[in-house]
Amino acid sequence: MLYYSTQKNSPAVSLKEAVVKGLAPDRGLYMPETIRQLPPSFYHEITGMNLTPIAQTVAGTFFGEDIPQKELDAIVADTLSFEIPLRQVEENIWVLELFHGPTFAFKDVGARFMARMLSRFVKEERQKEVNVLVATSGDTGSAVANGFLGVEGIRVFVLYPSGKVSDIQEAQFTTLGRNIVAIEVDGTFDDCQALVKAAFMDEELNRRLRLTSANSINVARFLPQSFYYFHAWAQLMRHHPAARSVISVPSGNLGNLTAGLFAKRMGLPVERFIAANNRNDVFRDYLLTGQYAPRASVQTIANAMDVGAPSNFDRILDLYGHNHGSITRDISATRYDDAEIRHAIRETEQRTGYLLDPHGACAYMALKDGLQAGETGIFLATAHPAKFKETVTECTGKTTAIPEALAAFMQGKKETVPLSNDFRLFKKALISLS
Ligand SMILES: *Cc1c(COP(=O)(O)O)cnc(C)c1O
Repeated sequence: MLYYSTQKNSPAVSLKEAVVKGLAPDRGLYMPETIRQLPPSFYHEITGMNLTPIAQTVAGTFFGEDIPQKELDAIVADTLSFEIPLRQVEENIWVLELFHGPTFAFKDVGARFMARMLSRFVKEERQKEVNVLVATSGDTGSAVANGFLGVEGIRVFVLYPSGKVSDIQEAQFTTLGRNIVAIEVDGTFDDCQALVKAAFMDEELNRRLRLTSANSINVARFLPQSFYYFHAWAQLMRHHPAARSVISVPSGNLGNLTAGLFAKRMGLPVERFIAANNRNDVFRDYLLTGQYAPRASVQTIANAMDVGAPSNFDRILDLYGHNHGSITRDISATRYDDAEIRHAIRETEQRTGYLLDPHGACAYMALKDGLQAGETGIFLATAHPAKFKETVTECTGKTTAIPEALAAFMQGKKETVPLSNDFRLFKKALISLS
């Protein structure tokens, strides 16, 4: 299968090239040339299937022309070594808990799948190592570092702003060692992102090193996120065979939502999607007005959604042929400020006993406010509430136990390469460390 650029200004490429390059040369995002429907029989069978075989079928539909099914099956089985349960929160609202992976956030799924696929391509070529560069304000760095830990043929550089990520987040990518290098930048997240961008643009660096990105712009990271939408729907059907389902997604860069839209395009009978925004509601504004106006992000307590220019927006436009009317038939959006998020965490815990994290709280409220008669809602809980212990405890008065595996990161020894935000020094460090 070939992958084309959303900018339509560079040639279509193979899966391998799309994954190794990340972004197209014209700065567009890669899209598969065809999105195949799964046969109606599949939608009958999946109500009796587990997550792994469902994901293997979906993976075969995307990647089966390029990677033998047996290898894909192994990549999927390795990726999904943890549960993704669907639980009922109240009468017509269910939650898909995506946070039972190694770093307790949903990004584990895409990061682990991408690591395994990229490693396969590097080994097949017997070429020199690939260097993954990732700038993080917290959660992406931990998922990518842990997903790629010990994977042959790949080195990961995580750039993060010194003193501006939580202790747990920092421990999750600075204590790993092996093929993971943490670069502690004396600056802001924007400085880190600027350094990564400059590296991708630097001719000499690209001649000497193979560089790629592990953000959700990479097809190998964002497409696997469609797996769990099928799994969620299949589980709901076991309880409610005739449910008209609506899925609510806590959204930042829109990678997760886009993966859901791909699932729908493959025939998954979900009625519609809701994008839950925090105060960074550029996407909601677009749905309401038809005008896309990216702007600087503002800080909120659902910080993984603090995005002012969502990187996957172009994929949604492309998927719907730039037709605003078709987009708004499938997707609506709502936004919540910090006070509303705090209130939802407190109120839901008291009324139902279910503990929300700030991101899941937005998606939960979006269902409470947007579900119509006869619809059943599923919201995605993207992070474990213990990752936001302070906020959750403040809101509910209850302490959340930090899972053992999360606490274990705190025992490791922190090792970083401290740098200023000067590109020449970063470039030197990259060359000497790789
Ligand atoms: C990354 C992240 C999001 C946003 O996902 P996108 O795919 O960027 O829209 C939401 N919640 C959590 C906890 C995240 O880490």
